[in-house]
Amino acid sequence: MRVLNFNAGPATLPLSALELARDELVDFGGTGMSILEHSHRGKDYDAVHQEAKSLLRDMLGVPATHDILFVQGGASQLFAQVPMNFLPAGKSADYVVNGAWGEKALAEAKVVGKMLGGETHVAAQADMRAPTDDEIKPNPGSAYLHYTSNETIHGVEFHRIPKTTLPLVCDASSDFMWKKTDVSKFALVYAGAQKNVGPSGIVVLLAQKDFVAQGRKDIPKIFQLRTVAENDSLYNTPPTFAIYLIRNVMRWIKSEGGLDAVEKRNREKAKLVYDALDAHEGFYRLPVDKGSRSVMNVVFRLPTEALEEQFLAEAKKQKMVGLKGHRSVGGMRVSLYNAVPVEWARALAELIEGFAKKNG
Ligand code: PMP
Repeated sequence: MRVLNFNAGPATLPLSALELARDELVDFGGTGMSILEHSHRGKDYDAVHQEAKSLLRDMLGVPATHDILFVQGGASQLFAQVPMNFLPAGKSADYVVNGAWGEKALAEAKVVGKMLGGETHVAAQADMRAPTDDEIKPNPGSAYLHYTSNETIHGVEFHRIPKTTLPLVCDASSDFMWKKTDVSKFALVYAGAQKNVGPSGIVVLLAQKDFVAQGRKDIPKIFQLRTVAENDSLYNTPPTFAIYLIRNVMRWIKSEGGLDAVEKRNREKAKLVYDALDAHEGFYRLPVDKGSRSVMNVVFRLPTEALEEQFLAEAKKQKMVGLKGHRSVGGMRVSLYNAVPVEWARALAELIEGFAKKNG
C-alpha cells in the first residue's frame, strides 16, 4: 500500500516511473541484463542517457548555448564545486542569503575562497522572504551572483529571476522543473534530483557553455565542470541507475502533458493548501511573506507543539506522511512536488480545515 507522501526529499516519485523500473529491473529491453549491469559505454545505456537529456531539453526549453550535465555527489557538493570552478583568485563571488541552503552555499564558498585566493560578498540578506531586485547589491566586478530559488526548509521561493548583469548561478534543487523557466538568463542552474526529477545522489545542471569554458583549470580535473561537459557526463562512471530513473520521470512528465500541465497542477495544489490555512489564520501561522510563499514547500505552525503532534497523528491515520518541518525549524512542512497528485493536496486541505474547526 502506497501512502500520501509529502516528504521534502527524497520525495514521492511518479508511480509509473517506479513501475517501469520494477518491470525492467532484471531484464532491460530484452538485453538479458539489468540496466544496473550495463556498461556506461554501451549503446543500451547510451540510449537512456540521451533520452533523459533530450526529454529534459525539450520540455524545459534548454537553449543550444547550454549543456545538460549530470554530477554525482548532491547539491551540497556543488556548494563547493561552483566557487572552485568560477571564483578566480583575486576576485569575489556574490551570494544572496535568505535561508539555510544559501547560508551553506556561502559558507563553502568562503572555504574555497581561502583555499584558492578569492573573496565572497553577500549581495543581499532576507528573512522569510525573497529579497527584491533593489535590495540585491553585488560587487560590480564579481565573478557571479548565486541565489537559492527555493529555500526548502523555510518555504521561501523567488517568483522571478533576479535581474543582474553578473553571470547568474542558481541552486534550484527544490523548484527545478515544476514549471518552465527562461534558462537563457542563467550561467548555471544546479538541482539535486531528489525532489522533482529523480532519486538522491545526482545533480542535474544547466550549464552555459561559455561560462563553463572560462572556469578554473588549476583544480583537480574531476571537479572541473569542463571535464563533465567535454565528456557528456561520462568522464568516469556516472550513477547510471539514477540517470535511468530521471529518464523514467521525464517520460512521465511528458505523458502528463509537459511542464505547462504540471505547472497548472502544482499551482492548484498549493492554492488548495494555502487557502485552507489562510481560512483559519488565527489558528495556523504562516511565517513566510505572502509574495514569497513557496509552491513546492508549504511551511506553517499550529498554536502549540502539542497540537502539532496531534495534527501529525491525525494525518498519519489518513496515511499522510512527511509533514513534519525540518528539524532545525520545527512546525509543519508540506512538500507538493510534481509527483504529488491534486487529490492528496485536497485531502490534506480537508484535514487542515477539519482540524482547525475541531481544535481552534
Ligand atoms: N539545496 C537545496 C535548496 C536543498 O533543498 C538541498 C537538500 N534538501 C540541498 C541543496 C542539498 O542537497 P543534497 O542533500 O543532495 O546535497
